[in-house]
Amino acid sequence: MQYLSDKARTIAPYTAGEQPAGRTFVKLNTNENPYPPAPAVAAALAGFSTENLRRYPEPDSGMLRAAIAAAEGVRPENIFCGNGSDEVLALCFPAFFNPREGEGACFADITYSFYQVFAAFFGIPATTVPLNADFSFDFEAFRAVKCRGFFLANPNAPTGVGVPREEMRSFLSSVGERLVIADEAYMDFYGQSCVPLTKEFDNLLVVKTFSKSYALAGIRCGYAVGAKDLIDGLFRMKDCFNSYPVDMVCRDVCIAALSEREYYRRTISLVCAERERVREALLGMGFTVPESRANFLFAGRAKVSGKTLYERLKAAGVLVRFWDVPVLRDFCRITVGTKEDNESLLKEIADILA
Ligand code: PMP
Repeated sequence: MQYLSDKARTIAPYTAGEQPAGRTFVKLNTNENPYPPAPAVAAALAGFSTENLRRYPEPDSGMLRAAIAAAEGVRPENIFCGNGSDEVLALCFPAFFNPREGEGACFADITYSFYQVFAAFFGIPATTVPLNADFSFDFEAFRAVKCRGFFLANPNAPTGVGVPREEMRSFLSSVGERLVIADEAYMDFYGQSCVPLTKEFDNLLVVKTFSKSYALAGIRCGYAVGAKDLIDGLFRMKDCFNSYPVDMVCRDVCIAALSEREYYRRTISLVCAERERVREALLGMGFTVPESRANFLFAGRAKVSGKTLYERLKAAGVLVRFWDVPVLRDFCRITVGTKEDNESLLKEIADILA
């Protein structure tokens, strides 16, 4: 098409997980929370006044930043909010990297595939480092890469493998002036957040989301925690792109969610308990399943290929995630659902294997 730029014609966009309308699936493909958002969220929506929609929201998301700062034990100036953590991660590329060899970003070969797409979109060079055989990060290999910074999904996606805070501290101490962006989308299912380290390390930016542990994927809100200079850099980029990434409904819903710590502690522990139970069952059926610190399991190398498992489960009404690329095609990523969802999954897998 002659009207499209070279970039629009040639870039390989990120493929989001299927969100099927119509047929109802046991949906274990996009790491959504199987439990509803906290009751205060429903109350906030019920009490929401349409008068709030007449005006633009605050461009600096001041009220929400203050609430997040209080919950995270930092100051509002250390918080940046975006339309999903995807947007926050995207803005990191122009904010902290240069489109020159040696000044780009570095991340694992098996990790959140959006990093590669953002790098291409912003023209930032990207170096990938293979995971170790046990799916852990090869920190020594990371250190050897000439770059301006690293994206580390912790826990990693799609493997679920986590890095303890103290290991992150050693890595942070060893990278000189390079930036470490810790993508903690799934961290609430692990409890080793590096947010406390942001007070010690000005080369650390932690990115979090309301989509997973807060069960608010539909509202689109994520945030970064870090030194004021890093946050200011993100604001400079946001203000070149979208003045109001956090709308008024989003603001009220997220503030309400932050007030319900106890509810979320319970739903998180239910998910974690199910994660362990489902993992044991999959191991028992001959799958390789790295120990997961997230709300999903990476399972494969059993009697069936990843593709066959994905296709047969889909035909049986259970959706999981499969990537038809060489490093991933032996595996499927399976979100931990409710006990009933997981029972359906395990029953169908048993049938497929039989
Ligand atoms: N980071 C990782 C590792 C993810 O898996 C996801 C979800 N696809 C995100 C970030 C983005 O989540 P959201 O934009 O919903 O905050």
